[in-house]
Amino acid sequence: MEAKWRSLVNHIQDIHDHDTPAFSSCAHGPLDGDQCNKEWLDPGSLAAVKLENIIMRTALLKDVRQLSPQHQTFSLEAYHSLILHFAPKHTGFSYLGMYSRLLLAALHYNHNANRETARRSDGTEKYCVRYPRFKKGAHVVLPIKEAASYGYATSLMKALRESYTNSPSALRETSPMI
Ligand SMILES: [Zn+2]
Repeated sequence: MEAKWRSLVNHIQDIHDHDTPAFSSCAHGPLDGDQCNKEWLDPGSLAAVKLENIIMRTALLKDVRQLSPQHQTFSLEAYHSLILHFAPKHTGFSYLGMYSRLLLAALHYNHNANRETARRSDGTEKYCVRYPRFKKGAHVVLPIKEAASYGYATSLMKALRESYTNSPSALRETSPMI
C-alpha cells in the first residue's frame, strides 16, 4: 500500500514505471490517446515539489501503511465468521480447545482459499450480491465459490493415526483431554 501511495509522486509527473519491486508500475495500464495529454506536473516545478512534500509526509505514510486493500478486509471478515463457525461464542472452551479450534479454522480457510467459481449446467459462472460490513450498507457482487472441502481433516486424521501407531505412549503423554 505504501509503495502504491509513493508511486503517486511519479504518476503526477507522467512517470508510470517505478523502481520499487512492491509496486513496479501504475495499475492503470498503458495510456493512449487523450490520456497521454493530461496536464502532468513538470518534474522539479514548485507544484510538483509541494505536492511531493505532502504525499511523503511521515505521519501520512504511517497511516497509509495501515490501510488494507478492500479484498483483504473482505477476507478478514470471512475469516472472522469462519472462526465463529468453529468456535461459537455461546460455548465456553478451554484454552487448548479454543487454540485447536482456531488452528482448525485457519486450516479450513487456507485449504479453501483458492476455490474455483461455481458454474451453472450451461457453464456460466454464478454470482451473488452481498452487503459486507466494511461497505457500510453498500453492496458488492461476488462470485459464488464451489462447495468447501474438508480434505485437510482427512490428512489430519491420517497423520494422527500414523503418529499414534509409531508411538502410542508419546501421544498419550502429550495430549491432555480437550
Ligand atoms: Zn501512472
